[in-house]
Amino acid sequence: MLELETANVRVGAVAASKEDAIRQVAALLARSGCIVPGYAESMLAREKVANTYLGKGVAIPHGMPKDRELIRRTGIAVLQVPGGVAWQPGDTARLIVGIAARSDEHLEVLGNLTGLLYDDEMVARLAVTPDPGEVIAALSAPRVDAPLSEPGEPFEAGLAVDAVVGSAHGLHARPATAFAEAAKGFDAEVMVRHGAHRANGKSLAGLLRLGVKAHGRVRISARGPEASAALAALKRLIEEGEPEEIFLGGPTHGWAPRAAGATVRGLAASPGIAIGPVRLLRQRKIVVERCAKDPERERRRLSEAISAARAELQELHHEVREKSGAAGAAIFLAHAEFLSDPDLLARAERRIARAESAGWAWRETIEEEAEPLARLDDPLLAGRATDLRDVGARVLRRLAGVIEGECELPSEPVILLADDLTPSDAAALDPARVLGFCTSGGGPTSHAAIIARSLGIPAVAGAGPVVLHQREGVAAVLDGDNGFLYIDPSPEDLAAAREAQRGWAGLRGAEHRARHEPALTTDGVRIEVVANTGLAREAAQAVEAGGEGIGLMRSEFLFLERATAPSEEEQYAAYREAAEALAGLPLIIRTLDIGGDKAVPYLDMPAEENPFLGVRGIRLCLAHPALFRTQLRAIFRASAHGSIKIMYPMIASVSELREALAITEQVRQELGAGRLDVGIMIEVPSAVVMAPELAGLVDFFSIGTNDLTQYVLAMDRGHPQLARQADGLHPAVLRMIDQTVRAAAGKSTWVGVCGGVAGEPLGAVILIGLGVTELSVSIPSIAAIKARIRDVSMADAQALARRALACDSAEAVRGLVKGAG
Ligand code: PEP
Ligand code: MG
Repeated sequence: MLELETANVRVGAVAASKEDAIRQVAALLARSGCIVPGYAESMLAREKVANTYLGKGVAIPHGMPKDRELIRRTGIAVLQVPGGVAWQPGDTARLIVGIAARSDEHLEVLGNLTGLLYDDEMVARLAVTPDPGEVIAALSAPRVDAPLSEPGEPFEAGLAVDAVVGSAHGLHARPATAFAEAAKGFDAEVMVRHGAHRANGKSLAGLLRLGVKAHGRVRISARGPEASAALAALKRLIEEGEPEEIFLGGPTHGWAPRAAGATVRGLAASPGIAIGPVRLLRQRKIVVERCAKDPERERRRLSEAISAARAELQELHHEVREKSGAAGAAIFLAHAEFLSDPDLLARAERRIARAESAGWAWRETIEEEAEPLARLDDPLLAGRATDLRDVGARVLRRLAGVIEGECELPSEPVILLADDLTPSDAAALDPARVLGFCTSGGGPTSHAAIIARSLGIPAVAGAGPVVLHQREGVAAVLDGDNGFLYIDPSPEDLAAAREAQRGWAGLRGAEHRARHEPALTTDGVRIEVVANTGLAREAAQAVEAGGEGIGLMRSEFLFLERATAPSEEEQYAAYREAAEALAGLPLIIRTLDIGGDKAVPYLDMPAEENPFLGVRGIRLCLAHPALFRTQLRAIFRASAHGSIKIMYPMIASVSELREALAITEQVRQELGAGRLDVGIMIEVPSAVVMAPELAGLVDFFSIGTNDLTQYVLAMDRGHPQLARQADGLHPAVLRMIDQTVRAAAGKSTWVGVCGGVAGEPLGAVILIGLGVTELSVSIPSIAAIKARIRDVSMADAQALARRALACDSAEAVRGLVKGAG
């Protein structure tokens, strides 16, 4: 970080012109050995291509990047011109902060200065103070490697702790939202200090204004009845940070043009190929009156517009979460939080009291926040400005008299070109009409990119202003894998792109071709991917789809929709057919799992008030020993034709398992058959709790997340209204799986999962990270699940699993991964 030395501060200066001021500040830098004198010319050159006026009388001249070799060491200098110097039409500079930075250290000073701009009193004082020490104190940030003071030391009449921001992108919108929300939950005043700047810990805008980067140090202080609890919770929150998104990857299209003509180069933001005419998205302009006569009425209008916008954002959050997953949706919660910011509202109301209309006051307040952020060279801070303006416009539209040039989304399929897409724009994209998009701003981590990935819309971001200068309607190919937009490609390239698109979007060919390859993580750990089947004939389909066996044969399929139970012979034929089709690959036959939602007429099962909590699974088999024995006889006989294992469903207690094992052993002895591996489904919470005891009695566990989820969350697995919440990735379910795996470790009992979670890309990665070694999935999911496993290392899967276990909701788990939905 930059040090401001006394020799580099000159107060009470007079400058005849902007050039004179820049030369004076350059002379300060040169005198202290920071630059060679020629750097002054570079600073003047910069003025011709960039605006270095920051606002409120502060300017930050600095040289061109190409002239960095003229910098001997990083430094800043401040020239105070109390009488002011014209910087650009309408703007007078009084504090001229010259920056000579060899790398990006100047961004921190910019952050401090930006914060300073909100402290009108302080800026005004610094412009006239005769004391250079005051300028130094205001602009110097604390050293990042030195603690501000001992944790817990009293601070501003309260308690304080120091914390280092753990979020990979600093304290930006999402982690800051989480912080402000958590702070509001405590009966305490919370203040956050970063360097010389402070923010109300309950104000999102205030927190963002601090401009804290990753690993930046902050001091959190609190005062009030719950101060200690608040500090402990907020420190944890800030240090845990926001997990980095992990992109699970997928097939690439592999297309490249043979003769690239006009090419726009940007950043790969969402994979895939889009082919179609380009269309420019024009920004809308919202017109509001400046003055209003009745402040009371305006205050009311503002409050109503904010409430309506907040409700709209909640709705949008819900909608986008459904459509695109939690990661893409989270920004709308942050937007709603902006609207609860007490500072923003107070400032807008002060303007209204000065006879400004609600719309004007609101827009000016938002611009005061957004403008200085947007000016900075830092894309993350600029992204915050986009968010502020997006949420600001949402309120403004409700207050506006006129909306000029209302943006029209295309009615026919196009590749959309835009300056940037706000999260609201992105949420409104219809994949049927927007084939892809390319923006001049933004990047792969912007919300628009996250939403595009989850909607499967190819996208390129950060491609620069050239994006906006394309001829409307011209044909183009957008390559979202590599970040290119090819304008007016040759007919041959167009045809090849279409071909590649078909291949990519169609069969996801590569995955399919690799379906018979083993599923090895990038660091070489093999995971068995097997199939869930019902009927015997599906065994051959499972093998053809790449299954390495059958992890769950739901034998009840043979028993359903018929008037009498299948005979031993009929069952033997079915199990033998499946075993033979697998040609030595494992076949796990689950013994009869009826009851619950599956009833059969021939068993004379009494109606139950709660069938899922009634006589089902192994309970039913133990209540009908003849039925159970017949099935076991058929299984033992079929085992001569393949590698068969037996699995009992719905085990809830050790005694049940012992009873089932005893019957199985009797049948085996009666037949004189060889011993078979025996396992149990883990799908009842009591089985998880008793897993250490159960593991000692069986060869394997297969976790049935479908039932486990319904029993852990007390949510009927078929309930239409609860379907969304009964999510197998709920941390409560994941923690049960973790407990099961740990109980089995050391007992030579392997653990697989055959519930639906195993067939989801995200679920599969989390499960293997938890230590599950076999995934049994539906036949169509086999190739994709194998491909996902090949994309990750076990180390990454374990890290993801740890983060998933630490989440507090299924939504948060799904939000860990880009586009996981
Ligand atoms: C389960 O409960 O997760 C499971 C695989 O069994 P079923 O869906 O057949 O109840
Ligand atoms: Mg089940």
